[in-house]
Amino acid sequence: MALTPCPKCGESISDDAPACPRCGAAASASIPGAPKGLVIQVIVRLAFAVAMGIFLWLTLRHPTAQTTPPSNNTPPPQVQPH
Ligand SMILES: [Zn+2]
Repeated sequence: MALTPCPKCGESISDDAPACPRCGAAASASIPGAPKGLVIQVIVRLAFAVAMGIFLWLTLRHPTAQTTPPSNNTPPPQVQPH
């Protein structure tokens, strides 16, 4: 348990206190309920999902770039030997 000065009034407040008992300012410590790690994970996952969506969209727009359409899989006509 350590005492940290309030960023507003300079009152010594403990780390356990969520806010300053004198002026009511929120402590500089991490606010419970809104961790920054969760927000970063959501942003990273959204960026990854958007990147995957763009990749799939570009891939589906040009199907002949990598995969051959099934209509070209027909075997060539057999030539009868004369
Ligand atoms: Zn204060």
